[in-house]
Amino acid sequence: MKIIDIHTHVFADDLAERAIKTLEESSNTKSFTDGTLKGLTESMEKAGIDISVVHPVSTKPSQVETINKYFAEIQSDSIISFGTIYPTAENSAKLPAILKNNGIRGVKFHPDYQNFKPDAEYMFYIYEEIIKNEMIVIFHSGRDIGIKTPPMGTPKDYSKVLEKFYELKTILAHTGGWRMWDDVEYYLVGSPAYFDTSYTIGEIEIEQFYRIIKKHGINKILFGTDSPWRDQKKDVDSTMKLSITSKEKEAVFSKNAEKLLKL
Ligand SMILES: [Zn+2]
Repeated sequence: MKIIDIHTHVFADDLAERAIKTLEESSNTKSFTDGTLKGLTESMEKAGIDISVVHPVSTKPSQVETINKYFAEIQSDSIISFGTIYPTAENSAKLPAILKNNGIRGVKFHPDYQNFKPDAEYMFYIYEEIIKNEMIVIFHSGRDIGIKTPPMGTPKDYSKVLEKFYELKTILAHTGGWRMWDDVEYYLVGSPAYFDTSYTIGEIEIEQFYRIIKKHGINKILFGTDSPWRDQKKDVDSTMKLSITSKEKEAVFSKNAEKLLKL
């Protein structure tokens, strides 16, 4: 079965060691790769994953250009890169067109690390440009394992964004909102957003997971891991074992993503 992992992370070779160490310490977790592209590629081979979509996060405006350059360069048959925009930086609404020009088809946002509210008005200009350039957006949603303060991007916040920008091709990570799955059921199930399954199985009550994917629609569920913070092989195995039909598994593992990414 073809497998696309819609949610992974890598760091440039010279930054990986330090980035992994810092993030391991803040989240009290262990990384399953060394954080490099090579590490991800080895993990994909072990797990039988054909394509990984990699997501950068800029935590200050000065990083944006360098990060986007690196992510544009590493794209290949097996790696699809999304780009980064620092929302409150000057000229951030101009970036979707520039990214698109460099062969990037989506943007990753993390409200907690980038200090913004997804439903704030300054985001609207960026969303409009993302729609205009026919790009995809992926948001970290819900709590974050490394952050103690209340989450900046909640299921309720995203429901407001989706109501206003129903054309925005949106992926909400962690099955709609990490450790906020009651709110996902209340605010988001049935919305036009895609949910990725990263960092979910083993965290959520499995009955609630089945309820969410069934009610939301299996055609809007995308397999994701959040590698290196999860073991790709283990997540492939547990997703294979889900009590859904093989056609539904195919949709989750690749068909839905292929359609969304226009592969
Ligand atoms: Zn992630």
